[in-house]
Amino acid sequence: MASKELIQAAAKEFVAFVNKAPSPYHVVQECRSRLLAAGFQELKERDHWEIQPANKYFVTRNQSSIVAFAVGGKYQPGNGFSMVGAHTDSPCLKVKPSSKKCKTGYQSVGIECYGGGIWHTWFDRDLTVAGRVLVKDGDKVSHRLVHIEKPILRVPNIAIHLFRKHNESFGPNKETEMVPILATCVQEEIEKLPQQNEEKKDDKATCQADKHQPALINLICDQLNTKPEQIMDFELCLADTQPATIGGAFDEFIFSPRLDNQVNCFCSLQGLIESCKDTDGLKNDTNIRMILLFDNEEVGSESAQGAGSSLTEWIMRRICAGSNPVAFEEAVSKSYLVSADQAHAVHPNYADKHEDNHKVSLHLGPVLKFNSNQRYATTAVTATILRMIAAKANVPLQDVVVRNDSACGSTIGPILSAKLGLRTVDIGSPQLSMHSIREMCCTTGINQLNVLFKGFFDHFPAVDASVCVD
Ligand SMILES: [Zn+2]
Repeated sequence: MASKELIQAAAKEFVAFVNKAPSPYHVVQECRSRLLAAGFQELKERDHWEIQPANKYFVTRNQSSIVAFAVGGKYQPGNGFSMVGAHTDSPCLKVKPSSKKCKTGYQSVGIECYGGGIWHTWFDRDLTVAGRVLVKDGDKVSHRLVHIEKPILRVPNIAIHLFRKHNESFGPNKETEMVPILATCVQEEIEKLPQQNEEKKDDKATCQADKHQPALINLICDQLNTKPEQIMDFELCLADTQPATIGGAFDEFIFSPRLDNQVNCFCSLQGLIESCKDTDGLKNDTNIRMILLFDNEEVGSESAQGAGSSLTEWIMRRICAGSNPVAFEEAVSKSYLVSADQAHAVHPNYADKHEDNHKVSLHLGPVLKFNSNQRYATTAVTATILRMIAAKANVPLQDVVVRNDSACGSTIGPILSAKLGLRTVDIGSPQLSMHSIREMCCTTGINQLNVLFKGFFDHFPAVDASVCVD
């Protein structure tokens, strides 16, 4: 096992990452700044690319998905891609297009439920908003990120005196009972916000900002130093303001929002960056080392920036472009994807929910996910390859399969493997409370994934050469 210092350092670095990333746009921004610092060059999909061996690049789509890659010094079109995929989004509440709600003296914000969250965990949390705003400046529209770093919103629970069944059957109505409160009308009257537009008789908004509470728009405009009429549109996620932290009697846990799936965004990024620090290793690599971090996994990946889109194929084709017209097809059969998404550790209070022989433990390593009904893409071949890599990297692995009487999750692995005909292994790091506003994993898991992903980029071409079944 790695030293406690190493484990704690990796965990703290992850905690810093997740605290800076309350929305997929912030995940991409954080990845971008780390990639630039590590010498990666930014490409644009709309430009022509001149890809050079032993160089490092990244490209974003919709500012919510990002693909970074390093070109091996011995890479030639038609060679393989060593790929790790994960997702930037997490279940959350999002501000509705027209969100202004006023009821019984409260000013509330209409929200939409994004993904399959455990919604009762969003009650009585100190919430804020984060996301992106399109701001008009003269004839130009700029894309700006916003993160109000203070608690401004709250979804209050109903008191137990008014709802006696709280502890037996609390199932909130997602439209009517989960509307976060921003302010009271009484206080707003006292504050008399200067930019508040007079309430129009016909209640029709004249600019986008009019569709939302002036107090909310005011906070956003303050941060962006802009005026309400300059706001063309926005996409805002609600987020808990309580920062992620290390916890437990032995400092062995991470209590955090969005572990699913920022753990794998962070660790794949670290693995790629670390693997490239060995410049001789990269110079001698025959492959493309690539990470793909997609938005919209939590809602099925079917979007322009999701794993179900053409993004992966097009980027691979552009890298393969050259005199060989079938370089892409040759490359696919030599490539391999590690689809990395969080896994369920055994829950001590619900141990019978887990299959007898597959109770996954914290600390004991990343998990290979199997499902013969193809909810996961792992095969005996792809599992063997990853086990050989993990052995070289000295990282333990665990196996998981769900009970036959339990539903099974899924992720981007089956989507990408089916779309491209790509050998794929589905893995994840064990955690508890998946899809809660506040999840929990172990500190060890971060360093284990960092080392495993670095080892994957270092060793995949050699291991692949020894496990060729077609
Ligand atoms: Zn996930």
